[in-house]
Amino acid sequence: MKLTDMSYAHEVMARHGIAPKKKFGQNFLTSDAVVSHIADTPSEDADVGVLEIGPGIGTLTEALAERYKKVVSVEIDETLLPVLAETVGWRENVEIVNGDAMKIDFPEFVREHFGDMRVCVCANLPYYITSPIIMKILECGALFESVTVMIQKEVAERLCAKAGSVDYGAITVFAAYLADVEKCFNVSPGNFLPQPKVTSAVIRMKPHKTPPVSVKNPENMQKIIKAAFEQRRKMLAGALAAATGRVSKAQISEKIAEAGLPQDVRGEKLSLADFARLSDILEM
Ligand code: SAM
Repeated sequence: MKLTDMSYAHEVMARHGIAPKKKFGQNFLTSDAVVSHIADTPSEDADVGVLEIGPGIGTLTEALAERYKKVVSVEIDETLLPVLAETVGWRENVEIVNGDAMKIDFPEFVREHFGDMRVCVCANLPYYITSPIIMKILECGALFESVTVMIQKEVAERLCAKAGSVDYGAITVFAAYLADVEKCFNVSPGNFLPQPKVTSAVIRMKPHKTPPVSVKNPENMQKIIKAAFEQRRKMLAGALAAATGRVSKAQISEKIAEAGLPQDVRGEKLSLADFARLSDILEM
């Protein structure tokens, strides 16, 4: 019986005396079609390994194990371990690890659990760590072949936004520097137990092997991007001057001109290439 069968899921949870916990962002998937669609997304190649973050009661884990060579799932909630042992732990290609994904050293973890296998990430992420865990994963560079995550639709739209749109923000530019981001499909609240308040979306990110723009000091570019969006209604020179004590507004204006940008430009209009050009001539 599948875990998307609600009577089975309820029976398993009742037998183990557990209920979904809000503090861990537990919204379990209940739709077979949605689970299949997510599990199909990481790769067309069955020979890859999959790192899952937050298996819950094992619903997505089961579908991933049916498709890929090896699945390693990291779950923070130790009360779910006996459930997972029963639902998916018996499978030869599934390994359950009790831990906090935010504290894992991913390169070391991948070496230890997957050896030289190519690895993708696939997860229905808990909402409370969406942005930090995505940045942590993307900062691993090309360690992962693809990263498929279900997140709030609003965050998915920010990650895929076009320069100048209301959704465009620092996270859009950071993500574009690190990966190609593609929105795959929306998932309505009725597909979860309990139902979240917002619509979700699945995105797939393909980390760049080499960044799409070359920049001398990526950390400096990161500072400029952050400062530009912290005061997004201000003109760029003012926003950057407010964030740095090192360079005067007049000097910043000169650099903006040197980068070929208009003086009245706001940060929200700048593309990744614009930020890279500016970063190479303006030390924050
Ligand atoms: N994959 C399951 C599904 O789709 O039905 C559950 C998804 S639920 C949205 C998120 C899962 O992540 C929960 O099982 C929760 O306990 C787990 N989780 C929350 N924070 C975590 C963390 N820091 N590290 C690992 N797992 C975490």
